Amino acid sequence: MKKWVYLFTEGDASRRNLLGGKGANLAEMTRIGLPIPPGFTISTEACLAYFDAGKTFPEGLWEQALEALQWVEEQTGKRFGDPQNPLLLSVRSGARVSMPGMMDTVLNIGLNDETVHGLATLTQDERFAYDAYRRLIQMFGHTVKGVEDTYFEQILDASKERTEGKQDTDLTAAMLKEIVGEFKQVYLEEVGESFPQAPHAQLHQAIAAVFDSWFGKRAVDYRNAQGIPHDWGTAVNVMTMVFGNMGWDSGTGVAFTRDPATGEKALYGEYLVNAQGEDVVAGIRTPKRIGQLAEEMPEIYRQFTEIAELLERHYRDVQDLEFTIERGKLWMLQTRTGERTAAAAIKIAVDMAREGLIGTEEAIGRVTPAQVDQVMHPRFDLQAKERAYQQGAFLAKGLNASPGAASGIVALDADTAEKWGHEGKEVILVRPETSPDDVHGMLRSKGILTQRGGATSHAAVVARGLGLPCVAGCEAIRMDEEKRVFTAGEKVIREGEVISIDGTTGEVFAGAIETIIPSFDEQEDLRTLLEWADEIAAREGVRSGPAGYPTRGLQVWANADYPRDAQRAREFGAMGIGLCRTEHMFFEQDRLPIVQQMILAETEEERQACLDKLLPVQRGDFEGIFRVMDGLPVIIRLIDPPLHEFLPNYEELLEKVVTLRLRGDAPEELAEKERLLKAVESMREMNPMLGLRGIRLGITFPGITQMQVRAIFEAACNVAQEGIVVKPEIMIPLTGHVNELHVARDLLEPVAKAVTEKKGVQIEYKFGTMIEIPRAAITADQIARYAEFFSFGTNDLTQTTFGYSRDDAEGKFLLQYVEREILPENPFQVLDRDGVGFLVHLGVEKGRQTRPDLEVGICGEHGGDPRSIEFCHHAGLNYVSCSPFRVPVARLTAAQVALGIEQ
Ligand code: PEP
Ligand code: MG
Repeated sequence: MKKWVYLFTEGDASRRNLLGGKGANLAEMTRIGLPIPPGFTISTEACLAYFDAGKTFPEGLWEQALEALQWVEEQTGKRFGDPQNPLLLSVRSGARVSMPGMMDTVLNIGLNDETVHGLATLTQDERFAYDAYRRLIQMFGHTVKGVEDTYFEQILDASKERTEGKQDTDLTAAMLKEIVGEFKQVYLEEVGESFPQAPHAQLHQAIAAVFDSWFGKRAVDYRNAQGIPHDWGTAVNVMTMVFGNMGWDSGTGVAFTRDPATGEKALYGEYLVNAQGEDVVAGIRTPKRIGQLAEEMPEIYRQFTEIAELLERHYRDVQDLEFTIERGKLWMLQTRTGERTAAAAIKIAVDMAREGLIGTEEAIGRVTPAQVDQVMHPRFDLQAKERAYQQGAFLAKGLNASPGAASGIVALDADTAEKWGHEGKEVILVRPETSPDDVHGMLRSKGILTQRGGATSHAAVVARGLGLPCVAGCEAIRMDEEKRVFTAGEKVIREGEVISIDGTTGEVFAGAIETIIPSFDEQEDLRTLLEWADEIAAREGVRSGPAGYPTRGLQVWANADYPRDAQRAREFGAMGIGLCRTEHMFFEQDRLPIVQQMILAETEEERQACLDKLLPVQRGDFEGIFRVMDGLPVIIRLIDPPLHEFLPNYEELLEKVVTLRLRGDAPEELAEKERLLKAVESMREMNPMLGLRGIRLGITFPGITQMQVRAIFEAACNVAQEGIVVKPEIMIPLTGHVNELHVARDLLEPVAKAVTEKKGVQIEYKFGTMIEIPRAAITADQIARYAEFFSFGTNDLTQTTFGYSRDDAEGKFLLQYVEREILPENPFQVLDRDGVGFLVHLGVEKGRQTRPDLEVGICGEHGGDPRSIEFCHHAGLNYVSCSPFRVPVARLTAAQVALGIEQ
């Protein structure tokens, strides 16, 4: 007979796939002797078998559960359904990975019209017993039978209104008894049958409901968003109930072993006295800071901190703990790896490595590339925020529940947020509080604002997990869902209007606020982590590329066109410039007219005169970059785009000419525009992407590229004479045939030689090409004869391999392809391994056949994408080059792939 059920004493932390995260940790905590209420776990395999069997329990499951129940009864000395001394149970979901609040829980199972008396007598607290009973009917009705929670809440609210304090705790036993009666009535009306009195029936149905919740909409949405497989199933944990609401010596709380927002090493959490767990999470009463427990219950606090430390050391990671105090006794209900913000993840990883709890390699694995990306993200500009204050835009301050800043239009419910987000709008979801039913809207929002709830409320926890800024418990706002507005004092914000929230400080403003990129310089922990990353990536040292040629660990270079970009790239840790697109300099306002004149020149002299004007300008740019990059390689790509890109738009020009002709009042202007139109017309191409550009342009109009090479070498010599080490690499774009490169080299090398000879300076340089045409990759062995380096231009290589024009494809069909799963991914974002990747492999292999020390990199956008970087590592590339802001992400990724961490 298959084993479906495991007592807490039978498992351990290693069996997370079978027992789920929660079950495995409960077993582990039991194993190391912590106070865990007795219970058992029904395996994820049982869940899968349940679905296989058409939603019926697989053979033996129920019998094993009953047997385990008997063991629990022995442990607790109570019996399930015993009117005198009833055992009560909780039934909770627990998947392999934590899916906070996505699945169902039922508490107080085992209560019925008889056992509730037993509980009342036993605890001498009738109020408590009926409160527990009403919670069971409500939870069971809602989660197991799908009864709208509002029916129950309305009854509860109406009763609370009749009390003086208007709180849950003000309800008397008599009132709760009445509420139980009304709840049973609601249940009967909504479900069509009475609330089940048999404890075993309750248990059976609750287990099935937890299984079912695996395919509930919330859970499915969450898994889709997080990329969690649907075929894992959930385990079910059945545990003895302990009560935090048994009086003022009882309580319940949640705590993190370190601050999940900042990473600071201090217990962080909240608790409520005389309350049940859901009261803390639902944000119904505002909880107290965990530190206060030291005064209120010093012995319990001491015990709890000890357990927290022990668990952190045991798991060697931050723990998110749930506990309950029942009449002065502490019980641990759960431990799991604590979710944390990106900034906290970085700090915690670095701190724990310094504390010796983990090694630096492990620290690298504790932070995801997405988290590094996040801390590089914008936050509000302080001056802009100050202005917002001065202009009276400040609305309210709430709890800083999840850091980051965002502006967007207000959506007052999750469906609207989802809809608007889907339409590409930036949305801030504003809710009284959130529940798992709001997650679909949260996923599409840029930020969350709630009126109620603490730092561990649902909104806060989910927002931190999603990396969204969240301001919670913002009591100063009032929502009016009917009028579709919220107010803050006198101010009224309508749905659809823009607000800004600062989740780092808790401030909320009307209108948009300018954002800035956080300074990398100030992020000391990140810099430390990335230094470790660089060491690890380089330490891999000599390893074998696919063709057996030795390559160094993957480096990270940057694409930078201007000295200021180069400066930033260096600050972010780039080890070189992998692509400097020289034509960007041509587009500058003061240069474009000269460039246009050069293109339109009718004589060689005229053209040369323009080039002579451009030369010092380009030289100046290059000097700036060389100075910044002192000693690091700088790959400069010669002009690439078709010339008409520098000229006015054909259609607009035509319109102008036609208008001028019709008006007939400006013959001179007309003549000039007609001349321009003719020139533009003569340069029009059917498929400019495949037309006169790249190396073809350099061969056809050698003057331009020769001027560029002169500018590069003059700059190199000048800067070298300042005592700075210069390592220029001249890169030719779009080579398709070896002869092209041969011709180009013959045109350009004499220029380089002439300059250096004239200046009397030796410059160490390389001459190479981009590989962005399939034919170039296929004939890479020939091309490598004239190229000392290759750089895969995977933007164009993807276009030419797929035969897509990127602009047309992304605008017309490509995103639909991805949605319909015709393509697994947008190949312009994530490198297509089977097609484009095949060509990269081939190019590297053939290139190094001819030239074993060939330097190979990538400079397409893929150079900043973690999965593409992983590919580049395996393809034996020397470096990836990406935009400066991606450099930190790429550095972490390079180390992770060197450590074999999958992306
Ligand atoms: C490329 O094609 O990948 C590349 C880097 O060049 P560009 O994007 O400038 O065409
Ligand atoms: Mg290109």
